[in-house]
Amino acid sequence: MSTPTHVVSSVKAKLDAMTSQGKGKSLIWRPTRGKEEQVRIVPYKHGPDPFNELYFHYDIGSVKTILCPHTAGVDESCPICDYTQYLYKQEKSDKNYALYKRLKSRLRVYVPVIVRGDEDAGIRFWGIGKNTYTAIGRLFIDAEYGDLSDPIKGRDVKVLATNPTPQYIYGQVDVRPAANGSAISQNVQIAKQWITDCPSVFEAFPKMTTAEIQNALDTFISQGDSEQPAAETPTSESVTDAALPEDQEGLAELYASITKQA
Ligand SMILES: [Zn+2]
Repeated sequence: MSTPTHVVSSVKAKLDAMTSQGKGKSLIWRPTRGKEEQVRIVPYKHGPDPFNELYFHYDIGSVKTILCPHTAGVDESCPICDYTQYLYKQEKSDKNYALYKRLKSRLRVYVPVIVRGDEDAGIRFWGIGKNTYTAIGRLFIDAEYGDLSDPIKGRDVKVLATNPTPQYIYGQVDVRPAANGSAISQNVQIAKQWITDCPSVFEAFPKMTTAEIQNALDTFISQGDSEQPAAETPTSESVTDAALPEDQEGLAELYASITKQA
């Protein structure tokens, strides 16, 4: 007896879902080293601005990235932060201080972007360190450039990540605003869809339970690891003036509504 059609389609849908989950349409974007790329920061409907300041513990036991539960939006106790606080109160020693520094949470800022030439990939989050955050943030508050994420008259950002050098062992990230303002998309429907469908940054980072974090910490301590995790490097910025593009129907209102809502 052959399998009924509705069973085939139901099983197939489940398999497809599992496969796509496994491959993980990643919500994280990383610049390609040595190649200038252009991105557009997308208005973020889940917060007051597109800069999501998240705190992470890196390389704990066998876990590469742990979103610290103290990060905004996740409000639970953090076994690693509890442990760093304990270390901090201990008698001062180089060993305790090194361990404290190694384990404490670190800031990484995630910005929703559309990558030019790869628009079909949709919105992804670009993780930036303090220097790149400062460089882009300065442009936002500079009246000459203003809100780069404005869907009608904002600007793309050119990103060049350099290869590591002896001086900058993690490479550098250079960011510059595009010379001219532009619409986020020439297609208003696509622009609106990007804004309304923008995922929450927390979709990009699987939440770990307190027990899982404790377990990662226990593994780390039993390994006696004290290696330093990665850091971000300086950026430079240079700029020119821009012409304002024409209004696009409905886009300004949509943007105003999410800005108000946040
Ligand atoms: Zn923590």
